Amino acid sequence: MKPRLFTPGPTPVPEETLLELARPVTYHRSAEAKAILAEVTEDLKYVFRTANPVFTLTSSGTGGMEAAVSSCLAAGEKVILLTAGRWGERWRGVLKAHGANIVAVEVPYGKAVTPEMAEAAVKANPDAKAVFATLSETSTGVGHDVAAFGKIVAPTEALLIVDGISGLGAMECRVDEWNIDVCVTGSQKALMLPPGLAFVSVSDKAWKKMDATPVRNFYFDLRRYRKSQLESDTPFTPANTLIRAQRASLKRIRTEGIENLWARHERIAKAARAAVRAMGLQNFAERPNSALTVISVPAGVDGSGTLKKLEKQYGYKLADGQDAMKGKIWRLSHMGYTDAFEVLGAISALELVLAEGGFNLQIGSGVAAFQQAYAAGK
Ligand SMILES: *Cc1c(COP(=O)(O)O)cnc(C)c1O
Repeated sequence: MKPRLFTPGPTPVPEETLLELARPVTYHRSAEAKAILAEVTEDLKYVFRTANPVFTLTSSGTGGMEAAVSSCLAAGEKVILLTAGRWGERWRGVLKAHGANIVAVEVPYGKAVTPEMAEAAVKANPDAKAVFATLSETSTGVGHDVAAFGKIVAPTEALLIVDGISGLGAMECRVDEWNIDVCVTGSQKALMLPPGLAFVSVSDKAWKKMDATPVRNFYFDLRRYRKSQLESDTPFTPANTLIRAQRASLKRIRTEGIENLWARHERIAKAARAAVRAMGLQNFAERPNSALTVISVPAGVDGSGTLKKLEKQYGYKLADGQDAMKGKIWRLSHMGYTDAFEVLGAISALELVLAEGGFNLQIGSGVAAFQQAYAAGK
């Protein structure tokens, strides 16, 4: 059976990128390695839609989040946390570990933090040093209106710090235009690479704050990365094999064009949601994003058991809900190197498994709705 990866990280990796990973290991301080890093940095700036520097860290996405928190904040400083799920809670965990004074704006799983909620919190806390948000809340499929958050935060002294892991490269995100001061992403979501790299952009406003903040971290101090980047270098040994491979995936993104890529994800996401409705199921996210489709497990259906059958019988690996959401939702990724017809296959397999389990649905209803919505979405 052919294994098919539909988890919202890691995601499938294109062939030309996998081939890069098979090539011999090279020295990371060579002129060639520096040239590759410089090229990757330029392509990342293109993807982030920023003229500011973007740093490559050898860590998973959370390392990028920790770099943002520890470089921008002194212990005890007040921050506003906008949280709508597990990844908002990841921000909370990192902030707590670094002694931040957290004012949380929290909504239940499946809901989005609205710009009005963010605005009220910013007004009530003029002494906040930063606002933390999540572009794509991968645990629920919710997408946040980060452009609106940017308009609210930009006129204040606070920084807007965004977890763009899973969102960046799958849905519209314009770092400079939207006034995002620090944007973090990871290699294994929409950027078509295995896990192992984090990328962080930093605005001028954020540099000013960092330069006035005591050093609290060694490996993740972004000031070190700024210094090294002047020589197209990194402060520590980077995962240079991954960086070289990332170059190949970024070339693919540049060839497609970032706006075409956003449109492709949106078209697939709309078709997938139409399929869900046609199958008599419900989309879980109140404000869905284009990186993944999150389906509520219907009453009477064994959510986790259904996913196990999907994988065992048809090779489709979807993700279960996390923590309290386990067994309650199914998460189907369509980010990165995944096309419409692969997602159509996943819908088809889900229909079969549900029908076999006795769920009342007409086989083919989801597939037909997907195709119709996809055709209409041109
Ligand atoms: C995957 C993910 C993370 C966690 O990243 P790691 O690479 O596992 O450290 C954080 N935030 C969001 C939104 C994610 O999707």
